[in-house]
Amino acid sequence: MINSGSSSVKYQLIDLDGPTRLVAGTIGRIGEPGSEFHDHEAALERVGEEVAPHAGELTAVGHRVVHGGATFTGPALITDDVVKQIEEAAPLAPLHNPSNLAGIEVMRRLHPDLPQVAVFDTAFHSTITPAARTYAIDREIAERFGVRRYGFHGTSTAYVSRVAAELVGKPETANVIVLHLGNGASATAVSEGRCVDTSMGMTPLEGLVMGTRSGDLDPGVIFHLIRGGMTPDEVEAMLVHRAGLYGLCGDNDMRTVLDRVAAGDEDAVLAYDVYCHRLRKYIGAYIAVLGRVDVVAFTGGVGENSAPVRRKVLSGLAQMGIRLDPTRNSSVRGARLVSADDSSVAVAVVPTDEELEIAVETADILARTNCE
Ligand code: AMP
Repeated sequence: MINSGSSSVKYQLIDLDGPTRLVAGTIGRIGEPGSEFHDHEAALERVGEEVAPHAGELTAVGHRVVHGGATFTGPALITDDVVKQIEEAAPLAPLHNPSNLAGIEVMRRLHPDLPQVAVFDTAFHSTITPAARTYAIDREIAERFGVRRYGFHGTSTAYVSRVAAELVGKPETANVIVLHLGNGASATAVSEGRCVDTSMGMTPLEGLVMGTRSGDLDPGVIFHLIRGGMTPDEVEAMLVHRAGLYGLCGDNDMRTVLDRVAAGDEDAVLAYDVYCHRLRKYIGAYIAVLGRVDVVAFTGGVGENSAPVRRKVLSGLAQMGIRLDPTRNSSVRGARLVSADDSSVAVAVVPTDEELEIAVETADILARTNCE
């Protein structure tokens, strides 16, 4: 499994019998001054050396690709055509798709004999309803520019919603709200294994308050700032890198924010309140979208590790059938339920595993292709 980012490559070799992780690592600082890896080729050659002892056992390479555009509704066996279509989706994810493609191109060159599969962050969301994915703007313009909600974090959300559905004993039929709260953050409504709505939009900027991204914003703010003298690039950089928790209090790590809240720091208190308020709004919205919810599942660095965030976000939702068990909520153990026994909606904490999901989806598509 290769996750090739702009300046880093994450890789894992997973044996799906088990599953067992045989090799795992991250190469950072690619292309930076003084780094021993001046490009993705150098980094992926090192990955090749790391997995060389297992070369005989390699059956396929799964690549994470952020944006599959409107074309990809599931993983795809990589061909020249598929590469071209990923290139065509690049304007929708200019920061991500080109580096994902660099990884694909190098691995195809280094391992021409191995099947390679692209697993898209957007694919799980391809089932969202037209009502949920359509922005209410001029339809001709939306069509021409590919403007619609695509959603991201799909690989993580697919994995977490499946594990959460199993935890409540309804693997096929559960309705799940997945809250992926990491540095990026998204909420997703999943009905019986199919995504019906998600908070990230055409780009990963929409929705929840994130580490450094604003999430939902009146689009009028952008024009106000541009008319006030900022350039479009400056506004975008601010919304992506200097907004969210960081913009509000100067820290994007929730651990630091919580320490500052405990010390009574007013900026941190406001940042934390804005973050939790937005999250509660989305939970309420997705309860309404789904009609019936079996489980709310928390994942990502914040969702998995922060009992205080889960407590604050869910407090006062007993009317909606959600009750946390304080002891379970504070325990630290893998995938588990943390709701009270009398909670009609279960609450789960599920450590995400995008790498495993990419490996599983890669193996699935190969099995299907071999059957055809
Ligand atoms: P991710 O993007 O999923 O790796 O999540 C990274 C974020 O998780 C960090 O920026 C922290 O804000 C957050 N995080 C990690 N551990 C904790 C913790 N124990 N409590 C609160 N937040 C945490």
